[in-house]
Amino acid sequence: LDGKSRLPSWLKTQIPKGKNMVSIKKSLRKLDLTTVCEEARCPNLNECWGGGEHNTATATIMIMGDTCTRGCRFCSVKTSKTPNPLDQNEPEKVAQALAAWGLDYVVITSVDRDDLPDYGANHFTKTVNEVKLRNPKLMIECLTPDFLGNPELISMVANSGLDVFAHNLETVEPLQRYVRDYRANYKQSLKVLTIAKNSNPRLITKTSLMLGVGENDEQIHQTLVDLRKHNVDVVTFGQYARPTKKHMKVFEYVHPSKFDYWHKVATDMGFLYVASGPLVRSSYKAAEFFIKNVLE
Ligand code: SF4
Ligand code: SF4
Repeated sequence: LDGKSRLPSWLKTQIPKGKNMVSIKKSLRKLDLTTVCEEARCPNLNECWGGGEHNTATATIMIMGDTCTRGCRFCSVKTSKTPNPLDQNEPEKVAQALAAWGLDYVVITSVDRDDLPDYGANHFTKTVNEVKLRNPKLMIECLTPDFLGNPELISMVANSGLDVFAHNLETVEPLQRYVRDYRANYKQSLKVLTIAKNSNPRLITKTSLMLGVGENDEQIHQTLVDLRKHNVDVVTFGQYARPTKKHMKVFEYVHPSKFDYWHKVATDMGFLYVASGPLVRSSYKAAEFFIKNVLE
């Protein structure tokens, strides 16, 4: 289940190359932003940047550098114990670039910076502050690290002006140690989401699960129960895709009908919004969700 030729039909997609896309990419170069959409060669890029049926353009940008202090087994981001120092001008640069781009919804995410005394929480907060200052209408979702469960730091980010606080569980509890870095764990991630919600109840909290890494139905169900118990509002399910041969293997390509099944189960359990499908990424159709559930 590794090579591209052996991918099931529902995962074979074209990387977008449209004329419009080329011009967007060119102007993006000038803005000096790192987008996860491009770095991860996300199959939804056309739809997200183009605005989709609701004409709401979404993108995911990455701050705090391109090198992470952790090493999760599914992730293609570079790893080092000593990444470059933070660019102190980044919050302002990001805010200027986003104001120029004219997006409706942005997901701001970052590498984990366990090398910094505050794990980057002040930098994250400052970035959101600056973006909202220049562009108050832009909806912001932050997909955050766990800040090692530190309540003050999580609370500071949760009150930075963002609209959606996302932190990914990634997988079911028994597979955490296999899939994620040793510093991350299930209980700590649930705690992060709970602290965010309690310190700013206006926030929508969100998490994502990768399927196809060896989990079973009972474990997924238990995860959904735990998420509801911790008042997490939004859950997304997507297929794990192995970035390179050095990364953990795909255990299973989950059939689209199974994603539909989890969509129904989670919706019936009371999540505010559920996105579920083989190509769904954490940020997929995030703006559409916001329009449907928050603005209308
Ligand atoms: Fe970017 Fe997320 Fe959309 Fe992919 S799903 S193009 S990463 S915003
Ligand atoms: Fe990748 Fe995030 Fe894990 Fe770092 S903490 S290796 S960026 S998934």
